[in-house]
Amino acid sequence: MGGKEKKEITPRRRFFTDMAHHIGLGAMGVLLLGGYATKAKSSPLTLRPPAALPEDDFLKTCIKCGLCAQACANRPQNRDVNGKQLPGTIKMAKAGDKATIGTPFFTPRDVPCYMCDDIPCVPACPTEALDITKVTNPKTGELDIRQMKMGVAVVDVHSCIAYWGLQCDACYRACPLLDEAIKLKYDRNSRTGKHAFLKPEVNTDICTGCGLCEKACVTEKPAIYVLPTEVALGKVGEHYVKGWDTKDQQRIKKRNLKDITTHDERSKKKPLDYLNNGLGL
Ligand code: SF4
Ligand code: SF4
Ligand code: SF4
Repeated sequence: MGGKEKKEITPRRRFFTDMAHHIGLGAMGVLLLGGYATKAKSSPLTLRPPAALPEDDFLKTCIKCGLCAQACANRPQNRDVNGKQLPGTIKMAKAGDKATIGTPFFTPRDVPCYMCDDIPCVPACPTEALDITKVTNPKTGELDIRQMKMGVAVVDVHSCIAYWGLQCDACYRACPLLDEAIKLKYDRNSRTGKHAFLKPEVNTDICTGCGLCEKACVTEKPAIYVLPTEVALGKVGEHYVKGWDTKDQQRIKKRNLKDITTHDERSKKKPLDYLNNGLGL
């Protein structure tokens, strides 16, 4: 066949075409300007949709079009037995919500993310504020929901009833990454002498932050809940190196060894060495 090869219609291109048809180019310009100009910050606890850019970049890139929320709400699984559409995971913030007005966010205790295999919310984004490369397996080029990092689940061990010794594995059973993102740790209950604790523990490397555990938690206020990764996790700093991890050792090969503290070096010191250093003795 002669002629030019038909160009692929990307979601971004489709969006601009559709918007131009619906509201006209002038109005679209105003809308885009409004989206890019926003400087307002959301609460640091705001959970964004899958594959969102870091918050500052997200706010500059998201044009508040709501296509991600629409794709989420319209996914075929999101219907009750009578075929009625249920509320989607992603909401667009209104006045009073803890997110910049008009931007997408989600609240797992209300509606968690169901970790759809085809992740329809992400390719729906026309501006790449939801960055599809973050959820694409680099080897196969296929979408991979396990790469999502919307946040990370943390357990409040004081209000989790499994830590009291009561039988509960609601969060463990609800997790789509069963026995990977949450494991139950067996401990002997020395209080009764004949029972066991089965304590949920989250593997933060595997947890996607979907919040299905938070939704399933049986306590009045959830004892397991999702926080943005930067809020939930600490950071050891570049100069600490895992002495047992060859990858981590390669990371510092080119750096000045004086700056590095390894686990092995620290373990040679005795408590008094630290005290004496601190007191200048
Ligand atoms: S992956 Fe989560 S946020 Fe995206 S469409 Fe599915 S349920 Fe909605
Ligand atoms: S689809 Fe993209 S640009 Fe539109 S509201 Fe969602 S994140 Fe923002
Ligand atoms: S947020 Fe909860 S349910 Fe989702 S992957 Fe993490 S531990 Fe599992």
